[in-house]
Amino acid sequence: MPDKILVCKDCRTEFIFSEGEQAFYREKGFENEPQRCPECRRARKNQRRNNTGSTGRTGGRMQNNRW
Ligand SMILES: [Zn+2]
Repeated sequence: MPDKILVCKDCRTEFIFSEGEQAFYREKGFENEPQRCPECRRARKNQRRNNTGSTGRTGGRMQNNRW
């Protein structure tokens, strides 16, 4: 399947969801496409490391607080 162009939810930058990444996601069982560009993903990962205690996967309420 071809590469996909996605738009980052955070910074609105277009980024490529490559064939290889799509395969990787499928392999991991992720059903959703990535919402953020690699840069924002990395930033979030670093953030999460500082915010210990939160699982980051508890659903909508937490997401609202975050932005
Ligand atoms: Zn971004």
